[in-house]
Amino acid sequence: MPTLSDPLISIGGLGKKTSERLNQLGIYTLEHLLFHLPNRYQDKTRITPLSAAHVGSEILVELTIERIEEAPTRQRQLLCYLTDEYNQRLLLRFFHFNQYQKQSLVRGEVLQCFGEVKVGRQGLEMHHPEYRLTSQQAPLFESTLTPVYPLCQGVTQNKLKQWINTALEALKTAVINDHFEKIVKNTMPSLKEALITLHHPKKGEDLTKIADFCHISQQRLIIEELAAHQLSLKQVKLKRKSKISNIFNIENELSKKLSASLNFGLTAAQGRCIEEINTDLASEQPMLRLLQGDVGSGKTIVAVFALLQAVANGFQTAVMAPTEILARQHQQSFGEYLSKLGITVAYLSGSQNTAERNEQLSKVISGEAQVVIGTHALFQESVSFDNLGFVIIDEQHKFGVHQRLSLAQKAKKTPHQLVMTATPIPRSLTMSAYADLDTSIIDELPPGRQTIQTIALSNSRKDEIIEKIKKVCAEGRQIYWVCTLIEESEMLRAESAENTFVYLSDNLLGLRVMMIHGRLNKSDKEAIMQDFTAGKIDVLVATTVIEVGVNVPNASLMIVENAERLGLAQLHQLRGRVGRGSEQSVCVLMYQSPLSDSAKERLDILRQTCDGFVIAEKDLELRGPGEILGTQQTGIADMKIANIVRDAYLLKQASYYSELMLGESEATQNALIHRWIDEDRSHFANA
Ligand code: ADP
Ligand code: MG
Repeated sequence: MPTLSDPLISIGGLGKKTSERLNQLGIYTLEHLLFHLPNRYQDKTRITPLSAAHVGSEILVELTIERIEEAPTRQRQLLCYLTDEYNQRLLLRFFHFNQYQKQSLVRGEVLQCFGEVKVGRQGLEMHHPEYRLTSQQAPLFESTLTPVYPLCQGVTQNKLKQWINTALEALKTAVINDHFEKIVKNTMPSLKEALITLHHPKKGEDLTKIADFCHISQQRLIIEELAAHQLSLKQVKLKRKSKISNIFNIENELSKKLSASLNFGLTAAQGRCIEEINTDLASEQPMLRLLQGDVGSGKTIVAVFALLQAVANGFQTAVMAPTEILARQHQQSFGEYLSKLGITVAYLSGSQNTAERNEQLSKVISGEAQVVIGTHALFQESVSFDNLGFVIIDEQHKFGVHQRLSLAQKAKKTPHQLVMTATPIPRSLTMSAYADLDTSIIDELPPGRQTIQTIALSNSRKDEIIEKIKKVCAEGRQIYWVCTLIEESEMLRAESAENTFVYLSDNLLGLRVMMIHGRLNKSDKEAIMQDFTAGKIDVLVATTVIEVGVNVPNASLMIVENAERLGLAQLHQLRGRVGRGSEQSVCVLMYQSPLSDSAKERLDILRQTCDGFVIAEKDLELRGPGEILGTQQTGIADMKIANIVRDAYLLKQASYYSELMLGESEATQNALIHRWIDEDRSHFANA
């Protein structure tokens, strides 16, 4: 009899090859098999009458065979018509079958079938259902829910079930370390009980709760898994905090000068964020703070106030952005504030020629440049700083931990770090994936901003927009026309933008129409953006290169072509290019009919709200955490039982328990973490 810590091959009939396949699911031992939990359950505990069958649901039915036939289609099909006592029909379709199977299905026999109800031309259907002839075979009917496990190639549901049952046998006599039980003080089932219940829901359990993943045994494991993830990130945070950073003496002279140079006052939220940051900077614990705010909430100025503290204390600041366009934009917007204060800014990017690059590099090395703005070029080996003390990272999810690390390592002592995001992050993600960061939120827009009126319009109504454009331009306002055609190559993309450009130029005689896309060289792009900012261009036809950062308050109309192809966050970000002045702005989302359900949902959400926090939550629901986190922490997107969207309501409890776990011995903490997480996060602490 194998025990829980034994390798998989100690299970009879499980060979080396299968074992390797299971390894890919993170399963190496019998214990790992126990934590391979069903991702759903089939309900074969009741027979559903056909009159109650819902299309799309999986049900068990018991019906009589009325007739069978082979369809005379090109690809042979076996059709088996079933009826109930009210003469309601269900058609079974088999696309693969053998003669033996065909002969066994005899008119008058009673069948139990389990499968998904579909609807075809002749009414209700099931395709390749699981079935049994009640006169000859054991019925499909079960007294409890049937677990369905995630599979890997070469492993069948039945085999996996068998092996998991072996592990469950071993569990019965095993002592399993249950660190969490002590923490939750017996308010929930033990780990052992919970695992058994989930693999073999007992008769009499609340099956709907299990099917909905809100049974107490599931909650117990979900909370434990979420807590394990949070714990591992909080450990990282503590480790990072134990490093020594430079203490900045918070002074106000430069800040006062900056305030005086602004033609607006800070919002209360901006003021609060600056204070939170200053408190961190005045400590020798390195800051790692996430600054969140909706599009247009004014994150840049907050970052500028923060970096002034570094300048005042004689330290250099590096500002890193994921793209050249964004870095340029930062160079411009940061530069505008900083030049007035006599602060020197250097710029580094991959597209610079050697002479330019060397000139900028020497300013960085000598310390002449107090602030360095750039792209990935910033953390290259050849870059060294005179005295780096502060790092600002924009859109950190586009960078890996290692990239952040290689920049931070250019400082003599661990630098303080401020991380900015272009759009808000859903709360559930902040609590799980970003539990190692402190957070400041600008939850208020500058006064006087109008909400952007958002309209969805079919591409076929392009002509109406031409009139609208003429009107807006006559009022002296400017317009973005965004082409989102997602073509294979940058060349095709440029070409499609070019078609739109020609169309608009032809139809907007007398207006200054220009085009910007990724294929233009850097200086052309810059010249065009400058002209647009200066009001020398009326209509700017652009690809999504203008997505982030671009700030032209006089632009009040945005048209997005083929908006159905873009995600929520991206559309919200794009839309944020207008509505930056006090004028009522309009965003027209044009789409190609027919719209898919999910595209329709996205456009509807955008029409209903301009609140980036609401949009972020919806985006997470629709796309899932994997897409949103990008290169960050794949572990959160791929948990064993928890799902941060479905289980968001348990995050607070998990957070509470993870705090308690921090008081346990390191061995206890690590045992919990290793039970749930394969990924090693220790290197996070250095970054
Ligand atoms: P985002 O948060 O999207 O990065 P920005 O920092 O680009 O926003 O700011 C958007 C615009 O709002 C800029 O033109 C900026 O000068 C302006 N702004 C920032 N803070 C305020 C404020 N408190 N009052 C008025 N305008 C502000
Ligand atoms: Mg910005």
